[in-house]
Amino acid sequence: CQASTDTNDTSFRKDYLPVHGVSEVIVGVLGGGQLSRMLCQAASEMAIKVMVLDPLVNCPASSIAYDHMVGSFNDSATVQEFAKRCAVLTVDIEHVDVAMMEKLEQQGVDCQPKASTIRIIQDKYLQKVHFSRQGIPLPDFMQIDDLEGAKWAGDLFGYPLMLKSRRLAYDGRGNAVAKNEVELTSAVNALGGFAHDLYVEKWTPFVKELAVIVGRGRDNSISCYPVVETIHKENICHIVKAPAHVPWKIRKLAIDVAHKAVSSLEGAGVFAVELFLTKDGQILLNEVAPRPHNSGHHTIESCYTSQFEQHLRAVLGLPLGDPSMKTPAAIMYNLLGEDEGEPGFQLAHQLIGRALNVQGAAVHWYDKPEMRKQRKMGHITIVGSSVGIVEAQLKSMLKEEGSETQ
Ligand code: ATP
Ligand code: MG
Ligand code: MG
Repeated sequence: CQASTDTNDTSFRKDYLPVHGVSEVIVGVLGGGQLSRMLCQAASEMAIKVMVLDPLVNCPASSIAYDHMVGSFNDSATVQEFAKRCAVLTVDIEHVDVAMMEKLEQQGVDCQPKASTIRIIQDKYLQKVHFSRQGIPLPDFMQIDDLEGAKWAGDLFGYPLMLKSRRLAYDGRGNAVAKNEVELTSAVNALGGFAHDLYVEKWTPFVKELAVIVGRGRDNSISCYPVVETIHKENICHIVKAPAHVPWKIRKLAIDVAHKAVSSLEGAGVFAVELFLTKDGQILLNEVAPRPHNSGHHTIESCYTSQFEQHLRAVLGLPLGDPSMKTPAAIMYNLLGEDEGEPGFQLAHQLIGRALNVQGAAVHWYDKPEMRKQRKMGHITIVGSSVGIVEAQLKSMLKEEGSETQ
């Protein structure tokens, strides 16, 4: 799928186009985490002004943003105040107060992607209902309201059974697996009980997890990045390999599913489509993120247009950039907190020290004020002439700590 070049479309915001620079307007981001930080980095190359709203004074985006408003992106009055200073509002997290976002839209605030998209995506059960109505292949799923409902789902879908929180899920926090009926109670309790809305998904014994970043312009032009393979450890993204080593037919199927999924949502920006590849060659959609995503970090070094630049282009109504890879291969390794506090920082710094000696490696450190176990603290991308070569380089970089790439 290619970016459309139809620039006559009236949905382009002519007033967002340059007077002197690339864009004169301020892009507001709800959230100042690492995605926001990397968005600010891409923006600075084109002198685009990105302003962030985050309660943390020293949030990752703070030192790089054009401006940082300290406040909650879930407080209506604060967001209203913030929105007044921005021409277009976007998000680095889907867990925002969507009713407030809808109200802002009614007042004429330009939100990209649209609040309707955030509403669908922030509730994983609603998301599943939405995509199944679009005829997109998904693992079977069912809402559960009590233990009886969970047992019924277990009888129907079998075990292991994946239980998920409908809302506020990220990095697998919101997922619990029951290996059998007895474990249902502990799985429900691990998710905070039925006071939180839960649903279940049939276990998918995937052979690989794939992901596609999709850019969507204000004129609804769509442009897909190459399919990547994502490797998760304990439900958290660990490694991304680009391009995915799968047959051409699978790549095409993955792109088709991703394209269809994003086409069913409203608004501009980049979207990440997480997919499962089954052993019989089926592609099932896991979930969609309405923003730049961990599976697209490699694009900073490996693609002509990074996912962050693409997001800015999309929300500003600029033409979408070229998503193709300019290097034959890339591998991204997440720097997850291995320990709390100072010992965790020391371990990360040792690895960064080794990465700085690796040819083709780029180190990204998010400058988070606190180190916690399993927290995404940074990442390393290695680019090179083949997937085999970048894999070998990563392996040798990790060898001293005895880690495996898979
Ligand atoms: P993210 O950080 O990507 O937002 P999340 O907390 O929303 O993660 P999911 O994407 O739902 O969580 O699941 C995390 C991981 O758990 C998946 O990438 C996959 O490895 C595994 N997983 C999720 N659903 C299933 C399933 N139905 N069957 C098997 N494994 C699954
Ligand atoms: Mg998620
Ligand atoms: Mg996920």
